[in-house]
Amino acid sequence: MNDKSLQSRLGELARTPRWAIAHKFPAEQATTELLGIDVQVGRTGKITPVARLKPVAVGGVVVSNATLHNQEYIEKRDIRVGDTVFVERAGDVIPKVVSPVLSKRPQNTVPYLFPTHCPRCHTPLFKEEENADWRCLNHLDCPAQVEAQLIHFVSRSCYDIEGIGEKQIQLFLKEGLIKTPADLFLLPTHADIIKEWEGFGDLSTTNLVAAINKAKKPSLPRFITALGIPLVGERTAEDLAKNFPSWPVLHAALTSPHARENLTQIDGIGPKVAASLTAFFENTHNQTLVENLLKNVVEPQLYKEMPKKSGYYTGKTVVLTGALSAMSRPEAKSRLTAGGAKVTDSVTSKTDILIAGEDAGSKLKKAQALGIVIEDEDVFLKNLNA
Ligand SMILES: [Zn+2]
Repeated sequence: MNDKSLQSRLGELARTPRWAIAHKFPAEQATTELLGIDVQVGRTGKITPVARLKPVAVGGVVVSNATLHNQEYIEKRDIRVGDTVFVERAGDVIPKVVSPVLSKRPQNTVPYLFPTHCPRCHTPLFKEEENADWRCLNHLDCPAQVEAQLIHFVSRSCYDIEGIGEKQIQLFLKEGLIKTPADLFLLPTHADIIKEWEGFGDLSTTNLVAAINKAKKPSLPRFITALGIPLVGERTAEDLAKNFPSWPVLHAALTSPHARENLTQIDGIGPKVAASLTAFFENTHNQTLVENLLKNVVEPQLYKEMPKKSGYYTGKTVVLTGALSAMSRPEAKSRLTAGGAKVTDSVTSKTDILIAGEDAGSKLKKAQALGIVIEDEDVFLKNLNA
């Protein structure tokens, strides 16, 4: 799921265990009424039309939003507000509107008119010939993009600042305390103001300041991921850090005249990603963003690959499922990997161990069926430290 805003919008669904587990669930369909079409602006300005539906159960989950992908998708199918529509949900894919039920179309409907301007900043939208998506190119001043970028910045795969999420970002923006990611690190200087706000108080503000200070030394991959460079996610950031283990070295590589050729020599980095990286660092706004981060005491750490020590999980293929209480899923994964385990996403006959936390779902059933060793959290923690 790439569209973060749609993903969070559909968050209720995303938290149900079935959502994230298998690719094999057959598509399930239902019909319901299309109440309206909302238009979302993503972190990079991509415009996504989202169907607001009369809530309907599809495959055991209540769906009230579904993607309509883009303008062409809507127009090809002549999907209209007021229509009864087929909604489809297949396992871990975001629900989508498939088509209208023409026999049930009310008399007064009109073809949907795709917006010509950004719903948040009212800038005329732009579309490249070969691309299906419209975009708002007002990246710096479009409130939707500024907000989405900040939410990305504090998220778990980036600076992972505890106590700051979507709600807090919106509040800090509204109160004028932040405008760019670097401003987040200046929030401690506003602690006196923040602690007077409803829902904050002394303790929360102290915790917030501590969380921000703790985030000032991100790993190099997190530092890169947080910049929000198109096509550059956690995996690519890790690949870059492996090859250029400090920020000065990496920065020199990204801004060298031969950056594109050199970057494509790296395993996992193709010409499109290389072009996106170099374009990002050629942009003066982005240069300022990075300079301000470094000036405001963010210190990306020297990259060290986790030493592979030998332990209980060394050489074993392990799958994680369900929620662990002692640590997050990414942490469990990185500790297993550090211990020499191969962590995979799905249970197969090659799986050695399934670690099943709370609310484990179909992976647990499958592992039981295959007779794979299943460990609960207590056993996992004991073996991890063995
Ligand atoms: Zn906009």
